[in-house]
Amino acid sequence: MGAPGAGKGTQATALASRYGVPAISTGDIFRTNIASRTELGLQVQAIIEAGEYVPDDVTEAIVADRLAEPDCAGGFLLDGFPRTMHQVHFLDEYLAADGKELDAVVSLHVNPEALVNRLLERARIEGRVDDNEDTIRRRMEVYAGQTAPLLFHYERAGTLVDVDGSGSVEDVRDRMFAGVDRYSKV
Ligand code: ADP
Repeated sequence: MGAPGAGKGTQATALASRYGVPAISTGDIFRTNIASRTELGLQVQAIIEAGEYVPDDVTEAIVADRLAEPDCAGGFLLDGFPRTMHQVHFLDEYLAADGKELDAVVSLHVNPEALVNRLLERARIEGRVDDNEDTIRRRMEVYAGQTAPLLFHYERAGTLVDVDGSGSVEDVRDRMFAGVDRYSKV
């Protein structure tokens, strides 16, 4: 978990390859569908461009389908999910039905000033439709209002790994590995 621009995607890829599990990014799934103009893509495009969250039922159905794929049987890493309390409960129940639970929840912290600069830089390089200044501001607000409070849930559950997301990609990665390895059951 982490605010827009905190480095979730980059660090998720590194963590997934360390543990040999697939990294599942709901944002990437939506972007792929938008690019190939599927029904789902057309349904979510305007929402994502406005910086709002895709409805829970739509997002949860996509995650459930993805987690049912055989490559998730030995574990998985979710990037950008859950983002609402409804999604938290959905995931807890989905996993419990299969006798599973989350091992660890990583929270990446970066100061807000640095976040906006990172996102504007990414906009220049990647041209993501939701990386313009107005949408970035809205995504920050939505994250602070809906997603940041979920950290308390995982703190209470004892699964939260707090990681300082400032500094180089490698520094953050090493801090995260050290934190998550303590929860590893592998
Ligand atoms: P960022 O964290 O920088 O916003 P993501 O790629 O994780 O980037 O998400 C991009 C957009 O995709 C979000 O702003 C939101 O509109 C949508 N999205 C991704 N994951 C979810 C989710 N779990 N619930 C609702 N909407 C989501």
